[in-house]
Amino acid sequence: MRIVRYTTGDDPSYGVLQGDPGSEWIAGVSGDPLYTPVSGTGARVELGEVRLLAPVIPRSKIIGIGRNYAAHAAELGNEVPEKPLMFLVPNTAVVGPDDPVIIPPFTQHCSYEGELAVVIGRMCKDVPVDRAGDVIFGYTCANDVTARDLQGPDKQWARAKGFDTSCPLGPWIETELDTSDLRVVTRLDGEVVQDGSTRQMIHDIPSLIAYASAAFTLLPGDVILTGTPEGVGRVDHGQRVEVEIEGIGTLANPFLRRER
Ligand code: MG
Repeated sequence: MRIVRYTTGDDPSYGVLQGDPGSEWIAGVSGDPLYTPVSGTGARVELGEVRLLAPVIPRSKIIGIGRNYAAHAAELGNEVPEKPLMFLVPNTAVVGPDDPVIIPPFTQHCSYEGELAVVIGRMCKDVPVDRAGDVIFGYTCANDVTARDLQGPDKQWARAKGFDTSCPLGPWIETELDTSDLRVVTRLDGEVVQDGSTRQMIHDIPSLIAYASAAFTLLPGDVILTGTPEGVGRVDHGQRVEVEIEGIGTLANPFLRRER
């Protein structure tokens, strides 16, 4: 099932995506599927007539995982961490499909990072690896946009990976997906720049959930970014980045630079 969050000009609504590629439509649902039981409203709207929004705005946190693909760690001259390398991103960084990513004036090297994002569906703590599937609501595409030139000098990655608009999510949440071997492709102005597979992850999704939930209580709507394959690079004003994940869809965002 694909859960969409959208607007036709009024308050955000939720729905379930229906129909074939190219002629999709949305069956409206009442409530918020992440937090409340939902039922169909009977509303039907064509996908092309709505503006899609980030399918989830995390109420508490986004947990990022750094260097979870060996080839990506190597391309930036980093060792593969023995344990997952976690960082936090504030929910104010989230934007949706086609929303502009605003490159702030304090970076001269902004990079894309296409990633599979896991959306947590229930409150949990100390989740065993073999129960991790029970706490997953679904999956979406993410771009873990990074001010690469701040990661070293700042030491903490809060600013480099947490500035406003630095975490596009979408286009929807796919609730049923085998994530063991999904192609993750990133395009910069239409040219493929990243082409990896989730099977290349060093720490798999159950391990990441177990590791993260040992430190933090996870809440419904929390998001875990699972790391990026090799091929990261610079993106600048006027360019467009697409993150396509097999079985989910494509998240696309234009990039604009704010001078001051
Ligand atoms: Mg990343």
